[in-house]
Amino acid sequence: MSGPDDTTVLEDGRDAIDLTADENADLCAGCTRCCETVSIEIDAPRSPWEYDQWIWVLHHRNLEIYLEKPEAWYLHIEAKCEQLKPNGHCAVYEERPVLCREYDPRGCERRAPLSDITAWFKTAADLERWLQEKRPAHWKRLVEHRRTRSGATGGGSALAHALVQLAEPKAHEPATRLRRGKR
Ligand code: SF4
Ligand code: SF4
Repeated sequence: MSGPDDTTVLEDGRDAIDLTADENADLCAGCTRCCETVSIEIDAPRSPWEYDQWIWVLHHRNLEIYLEKPEAWYLHIEAKCEQLKPNGHCAVYEERPVLCREYDPRGCERRAPLSDITAWFKTAADLERWLQEKRPAHWKRLVEHRRTRSGATGGGSALAHALVQLAEPKAHEPATRLRRGKR
């Protein structure tokens, strides 16, 4: 099945939630990508310890980070939804989360270029290179942070601290924002 042409997409003023299951299937024919990843908005790092934390995260398999204009940072996780059936359908379609219902496949990257994305870090080395090039002052502070902390012990407690920082939303902010995956 093929999707609607661009004119149909542009003229369709309905909310995403009003699309039928068949229309969703047509728009997404052959693709299940956004059911296979999770993106979580994170605080934009500024301090050396924050960069160090995200460099640590990027040393892990299946974790990536990307930036969108003007400066929104997202943790990108390659993790397939357990409700995605082998035929590409959703096993809980009628009861799927609101996040899924409100995701609009008419605006996904298969139809609109990801022009808002300014950088994508697949590895810690990618982030380090970007820092050196785009934020040399921050890179310098990170190098100094590493130098001054190189004798520090207690890696276990440092890891625990980083995990708490990742897991706990700040009291004055709404809970961590999630989005259906990119790419
Ligand atoms: S919304 Fe886009 S990325 Fe997601 S399944 Fe449909 S076509 Fe694929
Ligand atoms: S619940 Fe269904 S629509 Fe939502 S991510 Fe999982 S498979 Fe996709």
